[in-house]
Amino acid sequence: MEKILQSQSSQELMDIEEQYGAHNYQPLDVVLSRGEGVWVWDVEGNRYMDCLSAYSAVNQGHAHPRILEALIQQAQRLPLTSRAFRNDQLGRFYQQLCDLTGYDMVLPMNTGAEAVETALKAARKWGYQEKGVPDGQAEIIACEGNFAGRTISIISFSSEAQYRAGFGPYTPGFKLIPFGDAGALEAAITPNTVAFVFEPIQGEGGVIVPPDGYLRRVRDLCTRHNVLMVADEIQTGLGRTGELFACDHEHVRPDVVIIGKALSGGFYPVSAVLSGREVLGVFRPGDHGSTFGGNPLGAAVAQAALSALVDERMIENAAVIGEYFQDQLAEINSPHVKEVRGKGLMIGVELKDSAGGARRFCEALQHKGILAKETHHNIIRFAPPLVITHADVDWALERIRPVLLMD
Ligand SMILES: *Cc1c(COP(=O)(O)O)cnc(C)c1O
Repeated sequence: MEKILQSQSSQELMDIEEQYGAHNYQPLDVVLSRGEGVWVWDVEGNRYMDCLSAYSAVNQGHAHPRILEALIQQAQRLPLTSRAFRNDQLGRFYQQLCDLTGYDMVLPMNTGAEAVETALKAARKWGYQEKGVPDGQAEIIACEGNFAGRTISIISFSSEAQYRAGFGPYTPGFKLIPFGDAGALEAAITPNTVAFVFEPIQGEGGVIVPPDGYLRRVRDLCTRHNVLMVADEIQTGLGRTGELFACDHEHVRPDVVIIGKALSGGFYPVSAVLSGREVLGVFRPGDHGSTFGGNPLGAAVAQAALSALVDERMIENAAVIGEYFQDQLAEINSPHVKEVRGKGLMIGVELKDSAGGARRFCEALQHKGILAKETHHNIIRFAPPLVITHADVDWALERIRPVLLMD
Protein backbone atom coordinates (compact mmCIF):
# COMPACT_ATOMS: atom_id res chain seq x y z
CA MET A 1 0.00 0.00 0.00
CA GLU A 2 2.75 2.42 0.94
CA LYS A 3 4.58 1.67 -2.32
CA ILE A 4 1.47 2.41 -4.34
CA LEU A 5 0.94 5.71 -2.56
CA GLN A 6 4.55 6.73 -3.01
CA SER A 7 4.40 6.11 -6.72
CA GLN A 8 1.54 8.57 -7.15
CA SER A 9 2.51 11.80 -8.86
CA SER A 10 1.92 15.25 -7.41
CA GLN A 11 -0.87 15.75 -9.91
CA GLU A 12 -2.65 12.54 -8.90
CA LEU A 13 -2.35 13.42 -5.21
CA MET A 14 -3.68 16.92 -5.81
CA ASP A 15 -6.59 15.50 -7.77
CA ILE A 16 -7.71 13.15 -5.00
CA GLU A 17 -7.28 15.90 -2.43
CA GLU A 18 -9.51 18.19 -4.48
CA GLN A 19 -12.04 15.42 -5.05
CA TYR A 20 -12.48 14.31 -1.44
CA GLY A 21 -11.49 17.29 0.70
CA ALA A 22 -13.43 20.40 1.64
CA HIS A 23 -12.04 23.33 -0.32
CA ASN A 24 -11.31 25.65 2.60
CA TYR A 25 -7.72 26.36 1.45
CA GLN A 26 -6.05 27.38 -1.79
CA PRO A 27 -2.56 25.92 -1.38
CA LEU A 28 0.33 26.35 -3.77
CA ASP A 29 0.39 23.36 -6.10
CA VAL A 30 3.29 21.59 -4.44
CA VAL A 31 2.94 18.21 -2.72
CA LEU A 32 5.56 17.77 -0.03
CA SER A 33 6.69 14.45 1.35
CA ARG A 34 9.87 15.15 3.34
CA GLY A 35 11.54 17.93 5.30
CA GLU A 36 14.80 18.66 7.08
CA GLY A 37 15.82 21.99 8.61
CA VAL A 38 14.87 24.80 6.22
CA TRP A 39 14.38 22.38 3.31
CA VAL A 40 11.39 20.38 2.07
CA TRP A 41 11.07 17.98 -0.87
CA ASP A 42 8.06 17.25 -3.07
CA VAL A 43 7.04 13.76 -4.16
CA GLU A 44 9.07 14.12 -7.38
CA GLY A 45 12.16 14.86 -5.28
CA ASN A 46 12.41 18.60 -6.03
CA ARG A 47 13.91 20.57 -3.15
CA TYR A 48 12.53 23.88 -1.83
CA MET A 49 13.48 26.30 0.90
CA ASP A 50 10.51 26.69 3.23
CA CYS A 51 9.96 30.41 3.83
CA LEU A 52 6.63 29.96 5.63
CA SER A 53 7.55 27.42 8.34
CA ALA A 54 3.91 26.29 8.62
CA TYR A 55 2.92 29.81 9.71
CA SER A 56 5.80 29.75 12.23
CA ALA A 57 4.98 26.36 13.76
CA VAL A 58 8.30 24.98 12.48
CA ASN A 59 10.62 27.61 13.96
CA GLN A 60 13.06 24.86 15.00
CA GLY A 61 13.28 23.54 11.42
CA HIS A 62 11.61 20.50 9.89
CA ALA A 63 12.07 17.18 11.65
CA HIS A 64 14.38 18.56 14.31
CA PRO A 65 16.24 15.43 15.55
CA ARG A 66 15.98 16.22 19.26
CA ILE A 67 12.24 16.87 19.13
CA LEU A 68 11.76 13.80 16.95
CA GLU A 69 13.59 11.68 19.53
CA ALA A 70 11.37 13.02 22.34
CA LEU A 71 8.28 12.27 20.26
CA ILE A 72 9.35 8.70 19.51
CA GLN A 73 10.41 7.97 23.09
CA GLN A 74 7.20 9.31 24.59
CA ALA A 75 4.99 7.74 21.92
CA GLN A 76 6.48 4.37 22.81
CA ARG A 77 5.93 4.92 26.53
CA LEU A 78 2.59 6.69 26.95
CA PRO A 79 0.88 9.05 24.48
CA LEU A 80 -2.34 9.97 26.28
CA THR A 81 -3.80 9.79 29.76
CA SER A 82 -6.39 12.57 29.66
CA ARG A 83 -6.38 14.95 32.58
CA ALA A 84 -8.54 12.53 34.56
CA PHE A 85 -5.17 11.12 35.64
CA ARG A 86 -1.81 12.82 36.08
CA ASN A 87 1.18 12.05 33.89
CA ASP A 88 4.91 12.35 34.46
CA GLN A 89 5.53 14.91 31.69
CA LEU A 90 3.03 17.67 32.37
CA GLY A 91 4.54 19.14 35.53
CA ARG A 92 8.00 19.18 33.95
CA PHE A 93 6.62 20.98 30.91
CA TYR A 94 4.92 23.60 33.15
CA GLN A 95 8.06 24.17 35.17
CA GLN A 96 10.28 24.57 32.11
CA LEU A 97 7.84 26.99 30.49
CA CYS A 98 7.45 29.10 33.66
CA ASP A 99 11.22 29.14 34.27
CA LEU A 100 11.77 30.29 30.69
CA THR A 101 9.06 32.96 30.60
CA GLY A 102 8.77 34.13 34.20
CA TYR A 103 5.01 33.48 34.39
CA ASP A 104 3.46 31.67 37.37
CA MET A 105 0.90 29.44 35.72
CA VAL A 106 0.18 27.53 32.53
CA LEU A 107 -3.02 26.16 31.00
CA PRO A 108 -2.22 23.74 28.16
CA MET A 109 -4.42 23.23 25.10
CA ASN A 110 -3.79 21.93 21.58
CA THR A 111 -4.46 24.43 18.82
CA GLY A 112 -3.91 28.15 18.89
CA ALA A 113 -7.61 28.90 18.57
CA GLU A 114 -8.34 26.80 21.66
CA ALA A 115 -5.72 28.70 23.63
CA VAL A 116 -7.25 32.01 22.51
CA GLU A 117 -10.69 30.78 23.60
CA THR A 118 -9.16 29.76 26.92
CA ALA A 119 -7.66 33.23 27.41
CA LEU A 120 -11.01 34.87 26.60
CA LYS A 121 -12.77 32.66 29.15
CA ALA A 122 -10.09 33.37 31.76
CA ALA A 123 -10.38 37.12 31.13
CA ARG A 124 -14.17 37.09 31.46
CA LYS A 125 -14.10 35.07 34.65
CA TRP A 126 -11.35 37.27 36.06
CA GLY A 127 -13.50 40.29 35.20
CA TYR A 128 -16.50 38.98 37.12
CA GLN A 129 -14.61 37.50 40.04
CA GLU A 130 -11.71 39.89 40.56
CA LYS A 131 -12.63 43.16 38.85
CA GLY A 132 -16.29 43.09 39.86
CA VAL A 133 -17.84 43.54 36.43
CA PRO A 134 -21.63 42.90 36.58
CA ASP A 135 -22.55 39.42 35.41
CA GLY A 136 -22.87 39.07 31.63
CA GLN A 137 -21.46 42.57 30.94
CA ALA A 138 -17.76 41.84 30.28
CA GLU A 139 -16.28 43.59 27.25
CA ILE A 140 -13.15 42.54 25.39
CA ILE A 141 -11.37 44.92 23.03
CA ALA A 142 -9.52 43.64 19.96
CA CYS A 143 -7.93 45.23 16.88
CA GLU A 144 -9.08 45.55 13.31
CA GLY A 145 -7.03 43.29 11.06
CA ASN A 146 -6.50 40.73 13.83
CA PHE A 147 -6.16 37.01 13.29
CA ALA A 148 -6.76 34.75 16.28
CA GLY A 149 -8.25 31.61 14.76
CA ARG A 150 -11.46 30.34 13.25
CA THR A 151 -13.94 29.40 15.98
CA ILE A 152 -17.28 31.17 16.08
CA SER A 153 -16.32 33.34 19.07
CA ILE A 154 -13.00 34.28 17.51
CA ILE A 155 -14.48 35.22 14.13
CA SER A 156 -17.01 37.26 16.10
CA PHE A 157 -14.24 39.83 16.63
CA SER A 158 -12.66 39.51 13.18
CA SER A 159 -12.81 42.48 10.81
CA GLU A 160 -12.24 40.21 7.80
CA ALA A 161 -15.57 39.92 5.97
CA GLN A 162 -14.80 36.47 4.52
CA TYR A 163 -13.95 34.99 7.93
CA ARG A 164 -17.44 35.94 9.16
CA ALA A 165 -19.73 35.74 6.15
CA GLY A 166 -22.25 32.95 6.52
CA PHE A 167 -21.23 31.99 10.04
CA GLY A 168 -23.46 34.16 12.23
CA PRO A 169 -24.97 34.66 14.75
CA TYR A 170 -21.84 35.93 16.44
CA THR A 171 -20.68 35.91 20.05
CA PRO A 172 -21.33 39.31 21.68
CA GLY A 173 -19.00 41.19 24.00
CA PHE A 174 -16.26 42.33 21.62
CA LYS A 175 -15.28 45.79 20.45
CA LEU A 176 -12.86 46.58 17.61
CA ILE A 177 -10.40 49.46 17.43
CA PRO A 178 -7.63 50.33 14.93
CA PHE A 179 -4.34 48.49 15.51
CA GLY A 180 -1.36 50.56 16.64
CA ASP A 181 -3.51 53.37 18.04
CA ALA A 182 -3.19 53.64 21.83
CA GLY A 183 -5.55 56.63 21.91
CA ALA A 184 -8.29 54.47 20.39
CA LEU A 185 -7.72 51.91 23.15
CA GLU A 186 -8.04 54.53 25.85
CA ALA A 187 -11.28 55.81 24.29
CA ALA A 188 -12.75 52.31 24.02
CA ILE A 189 -12.15 51.22 27.61
CA THR A 190 -15.21 51.27 29.89
CA PRO A 191 -15.65 50.11 33.49
CA ASN A 192 -16.77 46.74 32.04
CA THR A 193 -13.65 46.19 29.91
CA VAL A 194 -11.86 43.06 31.08
CA ALA A 195 -9.20 42.58 28.42
CA PHE A 196 -7.39 43.95 25.40
CA VAL A 197 -6.41 41.11 23.07
CA PHE A 198 -3.83 41.87 20.39
CA GLU A 199 -0.93 40.55 18.33
CA PRO A 200 2.31 42.50 18.94
CA ILE A 201 2.85 42.26 15.18
CA GLN A 202 -0.19 41.30 13.11
CA GLY A 203 0.79 38.22 11.14
CA GLU A 204 -2.09 37.16 8.91
CA GLY A 205 -3.12 40.81 8.77
CA GLY A 206 -0.04 41.39 6.62
CA VAL A 207 3.00 41.62 8.94
CA ILE A 208 1.81 44.92 10.40
CA VAL A 209 4.33 46.39 12.85
CA PRO A 210 2.82 48.94 15.25
CA PRO A 211 4.56 52.27 15.94
CA ASP A 212 7.45 52.24 18.44
CA GLY A 213 6.18 52.72 21.96
CA TYR A 214 2.73 51.28 21.24
CA LEU A 215 3.16 48.23 23.45
CA ARG A 216 4.41 50.39 26.33
CA ARG A 217 1.43 52.69 26.04
CA VAL A 218 -0.91 49.71 25.92
CA ARG A 219 0.76 48.35 29.06
CA ASP A 220 0.28 51.68 30.86
CA LEU A 221 -3.38 51.98 29.83
CA CYS A 222 -4.18 48.41 30.83
CA THR A 223 -2.55 48.89 34.22
CA ARG A 224 -4.26 52.23 34.81
CA HIS A 225 -7.73 50.91 33.96
CA ASN A 226 -7.35 47.41 35.45
CA VAL A 227 -7.74 45.74 32.07
CA LEU A 228 -5.88 42.54 31.25
CA MET A 229 -3.24 42.96 28.55
CA VAL A 230 -3.53 39.73 26.57
CA ALA A 231 -0.84 39.18 23.93
CA ASP A 232 -1.54 36.62 21.23
CA GLU A 233 2.06 35.54 20.59
CA ILE A 234 1.05 32.34 18.80
CA GLN A 235 2.86 33.49 15.66
CA THR A 236 5.23 36.19 16.96
CA GLY A 237 6.38 34.27 20.03
CA LEU A 238 9.06 31.68 20.67
CA GLY A 239 11.84 33.47 18.85
CA ARG A 240 10.23 34.40 15.55
CA THR A 241 10.96 38.13 15.87
CA GLY A 242 14.42 37.75 17.42
CA GLU A 243 13.24 37.84 21.04
CA LEU A 244 11.49 35.11 23.01
CA PHE A 245 8.30 37.20 22.77
CA ALA A 246 7.69 40.13 20.44
CA CYS A 247 6.59 42.18 23.49
CA ASP A 248 10.18 41.84 24.78
CA HIS A 249 11.30 44.34 22.13
CA GLU A 250 9.64 47.03 24.24
CA HIS A 251 10.42 45.29 27.56
CA VAL A 252 6.72 44.94 28.16
CA ARG A 253 5.17 42.13 30.16
CA PRO A 254 1.55 41.35 29.30
CA ASP A 255 -0.76 39.90 31.97
CA VAL A 256 -1.58 36.96 29.72
CA VAL A 257 0.43 35.46 26.87
CA ILE A 258 -0.98 32.94 24.40
CA ILE A 259 1.44 30.62 22.61
CA GLY A 260 1.10 27.71 20.22
CA LYS A 261 2.56 26.85 16.82
CA ALA A 262 6.34 26.53 17.51
CA LEU A 263 5.66 25.30 21.04
CA SER A 264 5.82 21.82 19.51
CA GLY A 265 8.32 22.56 16.73
CA GLY A 266 5.60 21.48 14.32
CA PHE A 267 5.38 17.87 15.46
CA TYR A 268 2.10 17.91 17.27
CA PRO A 269 -0.46 20.55 18.23
CA VAL A 270 0.49 22.09 21.58
CA SER A 271 -0.68 25.50 22.77
CA ALA A 272 -0.81 27.22 26.13
CA VAL A 273 -1.97 30.25 28.05
CA LEU A 274 0.52 31.82 30.48
CA SER A 275 -0.29 34.28 33.25
CA GLY A 276 0.16 35.22 36.86
CA ARG A 277 -1.87 33.45 39.56
CA GLU A 278 -4.54 36.16 39.64
CA VAL A 279 -5.77 35.23 36.15
CA LEU A 280 -5.42 31.48 35.52
CA GLY A 281 -6.07 31.01 39.22
CA VAL A 282 -9.77 31.75 38.54
CA PHE A 283 -10.27 28.28 37.04
CA ARG A 284 -11.73 25.58 39.29
CA PRO A 285 -11.97 21.87 38.44
CA GLY A 286 -14.64 21.44 35.77
CA ASP A 287 -14.57 25.07 34.54
CA HIS A 288 -12.60 24.25 31.40
CA GLY A 289 -10.68 21.41 29.80
CA SER A 290 -9.66 19.35 26.81
CA THR A 291 -9.20 15.61 26.34
CA PHE A 292 -5.85 16.04 24.61
CA GLY A 293 -4.68 19.28 26.28
CA GLY A 294 -1.67 18.59 28.51
CA ASN A 295 -1.18 15.05 27.25
CA PRO A 296 2.21 13.43 27.91
CA LEU A 297 3.15 13.21 24.23
CA GLY A 298 2.55 16.91 23.65
CA ALA A 299 4.23 17.82 26.94
CA ALA A 300 7.35 15.79 26.08
CA VAL A 301 7.50 17.24 22.57
CA ALA A 302 7.08 20.79 23.88
CA GLN A 303 9.90 20.37 26.40
CA ALA A 304 12.25 19.28 23.62
CA ALA A 305 11.01 22.05 21.32
CA LEU A 306 11.69 24.72 23.98
CA SER A 307 15.10 23.25 24.80
CA ALA A 308 16.09 23.19 21.13
CA LEU A 309 15.04 26.82 20.71
CA VAL A 310 17.10 27.99 23.68
CA ASP A 311 20.11 25.64 23.64
CA GLU A 312 20.72 26.05 19.92
CA ARG A 313 20.46 29.83 20.18
CA MET A 314 17.75 30.03 17.53
CA ILE A 315 16.28 33.23 18.97
CA GLU A 316 19.61 35.05 18.66
CA ASN A 317 19.99 33.66 15.16
CA ALA A 318 16.56 34.99 14.20
CA ALA A 319 17.61 38.48 15.30
CA VAL A 320 20.91 38.50 13.40
CA ILE A 321 19.89 36.67 10.23
CA GLY A 322 16.51 38.37 10.17
CA GLU A 323 18.08 41.81 10.10
CA TYR A 324 20.42 40.74 7.30
CA PHE A 325 17.58 39.18 5.27
CA GLN A 326 15.37 42.24 5.68
CA ASP A 327 18.17 44.67 4.76
CA GLN A 328 19.05 42.68 1.67
CA LEU A 329 15.41 42.50 0.57
CA ALA A 330 15.07 46.25 1.03
CA GLU A 331 18.06 46.77 -1.27
CA ILE A 332 16.41 45.01 -4.20
CA ASN A 333 15.29 47.93 -6.28
CA SER A 334 12.03 46.43 -7.47
CA PRO A 335 9.42 48.59 -9.20
CA HIS A 336 6.75 46.34 -7.59
CA VAL A 337 7.73 46.72 -3.94
CA LYS A 338 6.02 49.29 -1.75
CA GLU A 339 7.63 48.37 1.57
CA VAL A 340 9.77 45.75 3.28
CA ARG A 341 9.02 45.45 7.00
CA GLY A 342 9.07 43.14 9.97
CA LYS A 343 11.16 42.07 12.92
CA GLY A 344 13.63 39.21 13.11
CA LEU A 345 12.56 36.46 10.75
CA MET A 346 8.99 37.71 10.41
CA ILE A 347 9.28 39.71 7.21
CA GLY A 348 6.61 41.09 4.91
CA VAL A 349 7.19 42.49 1.42
CA GLU A 350 4.23 44.65 0.51
CA LEU A 351 3.68 45.07 -3.21
CA LYS A 352 2.21 48.05 -4.99
CA ASP A 353 -1.32 47.81 -6.41
CA SER A 354 0.23 47.81 -9.89
CA ALA A 355 2.14 44.58 -9.16
CA GLY A 356 -0.89 42.40 -9.89
CA GLY A 357 -1.06 40.63 -6.52
CA ALA A 358 1.43 38.57 -4.53
CA ARG A 359 0.18 35.17 -5.71
CA ARG A 360 2.02 35.28 -9.05
CA PHE A 361 5.25 36.18 -7.25
CA CYS A 362 4.81 33.25 -4.86
CA GLU A 363 4.23 30.92 -7.82
CA ALA A 364 7.37 32.26 -9.53
CA LEU A 365 9.33 31.74 -6.31
CA GLN A 366 8.03 28.17 -6.13
CA HIS A 367 9.47 27.48 -9.58
CA LYS A 368 12.83 28.73 -8.35
CA GLY A 369 12.76 26.52 -5.26
CA ILE A 370 11.37 28.86 -2.60
CA LEU A 371 8.04 28.34 -0.86
CA ALA A 372 6.42 31.52 0.42
CA LYS A 373 2.75 32.31 0.81
CA GLU A 374 0.97 35.51 0.01
CA THR A 375 -1.08 37.14 2.70
CA HIS A 376 -3.73 39.78 2.08
CA HIS A 377 -3.39 39.61 -1.71
CA ASN A 378 -0.43 41.97 -1.98
CA ILE A 379 2.02 40.90 0.71
CA ILE A 380 4.68 38.21 0.39
CA ARG A 381 5.72 36.84 3.76
CA PHE A 382 9.21 35.48 4.40
CA ALA A 383 9.34 33.51 7.65
CA PRO A 384 11.84 30.66 7.29
CA PRO A 385 12.76 28.35 10.17
CA LEU A 386 15.00 30.10 12.71
CA VAL A 387 17.86 27.71 11.92
CA ILE A 388 18.45 29.44 8.58
CA THR A 389 22.07 30.47 7.91
CA HIS A 390 23.67 33.44 6.13
CA ALA A 391 24.50 31.14 3.22
CA ASP A 392 20.89 29.95 3.02
CA VAL A 393 19.68 33.56 2.90
CA ASP A 394 22.17 34.36 0.14
CA TRP A 395 20.92 31.33 -1.79
CA ALA A 396 17.35 32.58 -1.34
CA LEU A 397 18.16 36.17 -2.33
CA GLU A 398 19.71 35.01 -5.60
CA ARG A 399 16.30 33.57 -6.46
CA ILE A 400 14.09 36.24 -4.90
CA ARG A 401 15.86 39.09 -6.72
CA PRO A 402 14.90 38.11 -10.30
CA VAL A 403 11.35 37.32 -9.19
CA LEU A 404 10.85 40.74 -7.62
CA LEU A 405 12.38 42.32 -10.74
CA MET A 406 10.20 40.43 -13.24
CA ASP A 407 7.62 42.33 -15.36
C1 LIG B 1 -2.19 30.76 13.80
C2 LIG B 1 -2.68 31.75 14.76
C3 LIG B 1 -3.74 31.47 15.64
C4 LIG B 1 -4.54 30.20 15.56
O1 LIG B 1 -3.81 29.05 15.74
P1 LIG B 1 -4.40 27.64 15.21
O2 LIG B 1 -3.42 26.64 15.74
O3 LIG B 1 -4.41 27.72 13.72
O4 LIG B 1 -5.76 27.50 15.78
C5 LIG B 1 -4.09 32.44 16.56
N1 LIG B 1 -3.43 33.62 16.63
C6 LIG B 1 -2.41 33.91 15.79
C7 LIG B 1 -1.71 35.23 15.94
C8 LIG B 1 -2.01 33.01 14.82
O5 LIG B 1 -1.03 33.33 13.98
